[in-house]
Amino acid sequence: MLSNKRAVITGGSDGIGYGIAKAFAKNNADVFLVARNQQKLLKSAEALSSFGVEVHVLSADLSNAEEVKNAATEIRKIWPEIDVLVNNAGIARFIPFLQTSQVDFDLHINLNVMASYFLSQALIDSLTQRKGVIINISSYFSHRMLPGRPSTAYSITKGAIDAFTKSLAYELGPQGIRVNAIAPGTVNTPLVQENIERLSEEGKQKFSQMIKTIYPLGRIGEPEDISGAAVFLASDHARWMTGAILAVDGGLTTN
Ligand code: NAD
Repeated sequence: MLSNKRAVITGGSDGIGYGIAKAFAKNNADVFLVARNQQKLLKSAEALSSFGVEVHVLSADLSNAEEVKNAATEIRKIWPEIDVLVNNAGIARFIPFLQTSQVDFDLHINLNVMASYFLSQALIDSLTQRKGVIINISSYFSHRMLPGRPSTAYSITKGAIDAFTKSLAYELGPQGIRVNAIAPGTVNTPLVQENIERLSEEGKQKFSQMIKTIYPLGRIGEPEDISGAAVFLASDHARWMTGAILAVDGGLTTN
């Protein structure tokens, strides 16, 4: 479905980003992963190469504006033109509002919002040539909160991503660039596992019980539950879709 397409995926070494990279590679897209950990990147690249596609990796801390700029330069050196940019790298820490430090706040804003904004900006020329696609990874947390998961610092970043998706879709439509977002429900990734590990034993039990109650489909997602939507949005099947925030959440936001 994605033959001859070139896709850049931030946070592509792990979790949802890796799931998307794998689904893209299975659909014959070449992939370029940008993430923090070089070892994990190389391991992921090796696995993805088995699909017979071109794979590139770049280690960068995308919470740093200078590194975002440098990453774009490196990507453009290797691929002057691209078809897809997936802004996926993100952090989610559940911190009560009154305990949020400036450092926590800045990290959420910089990685979840600033990096998506300025990486997209720096790669627009590369996307324009192929009438490309931007896929932002949002979250239900932009508008749906959960008990025991104080998410203010995180939620504002995903609200910003939703607004970014719609306003950028509006602005870039005339150039033929489509911009959409996927808003996943809870997905079993290292990020979620780390957050569960921080809970007390009682908290873990409550969390597991809550999942069964609030998800109409009765379980949390796996990265593979999200990646099909990304393949669709990247493909020509979604050619008249732009500015959409696609909920892929096991029905969580029905209630
Ligand atoms: P994860 O922690 O499992 O993976 C995150 C990826 O981002 C990794 O590849 C990591 O290397 C990369 N990354 C982290 N910090 C980085 C930095 N400073 N610079 C560059 N790369 C960095 O996370 P995940 O659960 O797969 O989440 C991916 C995205 O999906 C995030 O935007 C998250 O907000 C969103 N999301 C996740 C869930 C969920 O339940 N897992 C739900 C809704 C939305």
